[in-house]
Amino acid sequence: MLSSIVALVAGQPAQAEDVHSYARLNQVSTPHLELNLTVDFEARQLKGHATYTLARHDKTTQLYLDTSDLTIERAELLIDDQWQPTKFTLGDVHPSLGRELIVDIGSVAKQVRIHYQTAPTASGLQWLTPEQTAGKKHPFMFSQSQPIHSRSWIPIQDSPALRLTYNATITTPKGLLAVMSADNSLSDERPGTYEFAMPQPIPPYLIAIAAGDLAVKSISENVAVFAEQYILEDAAWEFADTPAMIETTEAMYGPYRWDRYDLLILPPSFPFGGMENPRLSFITPTVVSGDRSLVNLIAHELAHSWSGNLVTNASWRDLWINEGFTSYVENRIMEALFGERRANMELALGYQDLLDDMERLKPQDTVLNIDLGTRHPDDVFSQVPYVKGQLFLVYLEQKFGRDMFDKFLRQYFEDFAFQSISTEQFKKYLKRQLLDKQPDTVTMSKINEWLHEPGLPEDAPKPTSDAFTQVEQQMQRWLKGGQLQTDKWTTHEWLHFINNLPLDISANNMARLDREFNLTNIQNSEIAHAWLKLAIVKKYEPARERLRSYLLTIGRNKLVSPLYRELAKTSDNLKWAREVYQQAKPGYHPLTQTVNEALLYGDN
Ligand SMILES: [Zn+2]
Repeated sequence: MLSSIVALVAGQPAQAEDVHSYARLNQVSTPHLELNLTVDFEARQLKGHATYTLARHDKTTQLYLDTSDLTIERAELLIDDQWQPTKFTLGDVHPSLGRELIVDIGSVAKQVRIHYQTAPTASGLQWLTPEQTAGKKHPFMFSQSQPIHSRSWIPIQDSPALRLTYNATITTPKGLLAVMSADNSLSDERPGTYEFAMPQPIPPYLIAIAAGDLAVKSISENVAVFAEQYILEDAAWEFADTPAMIETTEAMYGPYRWDRYDLLILPPSFPFGGMENPRLSFITPTVVSGDRSLVNLIAHELAHSWSGNLVTNASWRDLWINEGFTSYVENRIMEALFGERRANMELALGYQDLLDDMERLKPQDTVLNIDLGTRHPDDVFSQVPYVKGQLFLVYLEQKFGRDMFDKFLRQYFEDFAFQSISTEQFKKYLKRQLLDKQPDTVTMSKINEWLHEPGLPEDAPKPTSDAFTQVEQQMQRWLKGGQLQTDKWTTHEWLHFINNLPLDISANNMARLDREFNLTNIQNSEIAHAWLKLAIVKKYEPARERLRSYLLTIGRNKLVSPLYRELAKTSDNLKWAREVYQQAKPGYHPLTQTVNEALLYGDN
């Protein structure tokens, strides 16, 4: 697999493609990592060493690594089977990129070892006290490395253009379990030392770790759930369709290439819905809703086993290559397993979120192949790479027909397996493998409009859902005093209903809705979110205490930040929101803190 790395960067100026990494992959790259780390909960630190196998592509005698907030103790080279000290220097601190670490590697060493420790403030790690977990007895820690946070817990060539395999030895306090994006053991034993291997080459942002009081339950021969005991059975029930999702995706897009597929249910502070760490997707507990209505998140993380993990964006400018393809594949999985009606509703909900985001974003930030400069790539995570990217592929599917487009996609996953690709490479491939095969169907200037222009093209698909049309008809009758027939409604219909209520809805009607359907106390995290957001806009005070407890118990950024954004619009609410935020902050992930502090304390 190394040859593909070299091929990708050969002949290009040093790292012109990835402005978010100091690594110079065309000089020397690091195809294999051995990690040896101790998890120190008291100090909130990982301590140990990282050993790299070196692949030299020219005569350079220096290795450039990315670091952020790391203390580097010493560096060594393996020469004639002996570890010998070597010199290293750290560059200046860059506000979003961290510091480059330059290690002298001479001209003969085949391996280099860095001894280091992380900071308690590492942006890619969250440390939870026992009180912040459900079990209350043991601490918990987990990583979130995408996009450029690996460097806050491993000195590494932190570019998605690199692929590396890894092994790890992780030591935890006895009784706790460590898991990684690797071959996790299903054993009940908790000896405190764990060995891992990830034999498939992955980009650095997919290296992941978690440790805590975890139990495990198998769903099938190849799928298991890791979770704190309180939610283990519920999660195994909620995600029982995962093996069927794998089979469905394999039938459409080729083999699943990662052996096992396990799920790790994190504490509520996990900042994302899910993270597609290979072999072990990290999942928010907020989708364990008791009715399997939010499992498209699992379809999404699983889909990344093809788009993202197998075929990877070469830089964070190309994030749509990960997320647009994955959102498309996710919806195809949902359609194949649960039917067109549900898939259409989910696509229509995503479309509405995209339109909302595009209204808020600067035009240049609605471009798929976004020009980030050296802005932190955390900034690209809007609905644009996800849903606009998805609509681009839906557009191609509609133009070329599903049969032809499916064949194209299947071949794409095969041709770029275990490689990283840029938007420009994709365009060339698309032209050769699809556009030229059926000329006069889609022009290259149309492709360029999709990839390089802001907003949506005039003829972009506009997803609709018959189910939602019926919801809207019911809404009109209800607003005039009629009854709602909701017994067959799923989460999707409720979301569409609440999100589309007229903003001049009367206080009486808000109270009536709450009385009939108990929306303030509903446990479904997505419906509660939609209702609480409306309650803020409408100053519906009976929901105030529920809003407080929601913000205090959930740290998934997609669910909390729109609420803080809405609260920040009036001075009374802002004052209240700041108080709640200060109370909630210790339970929020560093990323959730950054985003919401900008909303509550920034000058916007
Ligand atoms: Zn994704």
